[in-house]
Amino acid sequence: MKDRIFRVNLTDMTTTVEDVPESWAGHGGRGLTSTIVAAEVDPTCHPLGPKNKLVFAPGLLSGTVAANSGRLSVGGKSPLTGTIKEANGGGTAAQLMARCGVKALILEGQPADDKWFSLAVTPEGVTIEEETELVGKGNFAVLETLSTRLENNPAIITIGPAGEMKMAAANISIKDPDGGIRSNGRGGLGAVMGSKRVKFISVTPGDAKLEIADPEAFKAANRTFAKALVDHPVSQALGQYGTNVLVNIINESGGLPTKNFTQGQFEGHEKISGETMHDTIKERGGRVKHNCHPGCVIQCSQVYHDADGKKLTSGFEYESIWAMGADCCVDNLDHIAMADKLMDDIGIDSIETSVAFGVAMEAGILEFGDGEGVCRMLKEDVATGTGLGRVIGNGAGSVGRTYGVTRVPVVKNQAIPAYDPRAIKGIGITYATSTQGADHTMGYTIATNILNVGGAVDPLTKEGQVELSRNLQIATAAIDSTGMCLFIAFAALDNEECLPALIDLLNARFGISLTADDVVNLGKYILKTEREFNEKAGFTNLDDRLPEFFYNEPLSPHNVVFDFSGEEIDTFWDF
Ligand code: SF4
Repeated sequence: MKDRIFRVNLTDMTTTVEDVPESWAGHGGRGLTSTIVAAEVDPTCHPLGPKNKLVFAPGLLSGTVAANSGRLSVGGKSPLTGTIKEANGGGTAAQLMARCGVKALILEGQPADDKWFSLAVTPEGVTIEEETELVGKGNFAVLETLSTRLENNPAIITIGPAGEMKMAAANISIKDPDGGIRSNGRGGLGAVMGSKRVKFISVTPGDAKLEIADPEAFKAANRTFAKALVDHPVSQALGQYGTNVLVNIINESGGLPTKNFTQGQFEGHEKISGETMHDTIKERGGRVKHNCHPGCVIQCSQVYHDADGKKLTSGFEYESIWAMGADCCVDNLDHIAMADKLMDDIGIDSIETSVAFGVAMEAGILEFGDGEGVCRMLKEDVATGTGLGRVIGNGAGSVGRTYGVTRVPVVKNQAIPAYDPRAIKGIGITYATSTQGADHTMGYTIATNILNVGGAVDPLTKEGQVELSRNLQIATAAIDSTGMCLFIAFAALDNEECLPALIDLLNARFGISLTADDVVNLGKYILKTEREFNEKAGFTNLDDRLPEFFYNEPLSPHNVVFDFSGEEIDTFWDF
């Protein structure tokens, strides 16, 4: 089946299926979304206006049996940061979209009236239907209704009330194989989908299989690749304890941001740790291992049950647990799990929203540690869109501006996640220089700063951090183009067979002969394309800075500040 570009114009309600321009043919995932956004979106446009576009792109290997290759990239101009944005997530959509022959799905324009719509993607194209029943409904109700309304178990991409209300922290949510939710979480692209008045997209492939240029070479490469993933100790820890294995590790390092980034360690860390979570799941009959899409061999996801043994949430990630836990001083894992479930249902980024609650606690809106209060406000304010709910739903920066808080952990208005840049300096360079606001996944220096993967760079010294962040950001941009989950990076950094096997997979899939240098050049191209978009949108190097308090307020227990000068940060772009 030939890949094509599927385009939907929501202004005049037309759909087209187009050939792939030659210059886009070698791209997938983030490389493709950023290429299309840079080519077709006016960088100065309003992110929620008709000139912004929302681009969905499976990775280059999505839809194949390559291990861990089912990530779907979504791109556009972010209503949270004002920069270019790509958010990728698991679930079944990338694999089924690829099997429909969708190289990219582009939503453009905006309906003139206030009706809502759904889109149905098949190999033949896209159809648009008016939607009334599911408007205003949470994500879980959407999935439940569609499980009976639609045949053939399609992939579902949806927005919850946050996206409908165009909150700047709104997710795009994707059904996972068990009917749970995976989130394309950061940067508020759910609000862009809401601005186009699309409530959900279904994706139903036919029987056609993806063509593999050299099936035998592909199988052999996949065997080597999957073995490298499974054998790596970090993969094994992720499979046992989930990403939440990091709570105790980051707490021990003194880099676990606590009480709205005023301390580097949380006294309640044991109660919310991966080890405690693992034991609780076992006791209550949940699942310690779970995959967010078929073909994942690491299985870092899990299903967490409540005290009565009923499913409470799934895909319960370290960053979400840290944000509602240590940052808001909530040490009750059940309260955090309930908040996680509510945020999945509302369709809102659990990092941005929880950090926003941390700032709201500093402003005195709630007491630190009040997990039940957070759940109540999520239900009564954020889900229904009260004034306060919208302030929170627009992110940590919005709360800080509204209540005059000066300790607001954001870069380019996006909340800083679960690693304090004063105690883990490499990640501070990533937060500052990322083309998309503070985001640990853009260049995960924790691997080398804390986990000693790919070598070791002391987290408390400046030496080597800019180079580390640069190399990882370049590699990540390339990985984000393949459809691979970022957790392949641990094996790729340590196992000398892993990266060549990934390149072999790409070559066998398309009948090409990429080299490692080509992959590095792809990563560089993506970063530069994204930066150029941001410059045209009005961003400068002065936006590549951390908030003032990181330079002024020493963080316990190491009593360190972030001490990179602007000139030192700017050397990141010397490539
Ligand atoms: S390792 Fe985790 S995030 Fe990656 S594909 Fe598997 S379940 Fe999804």
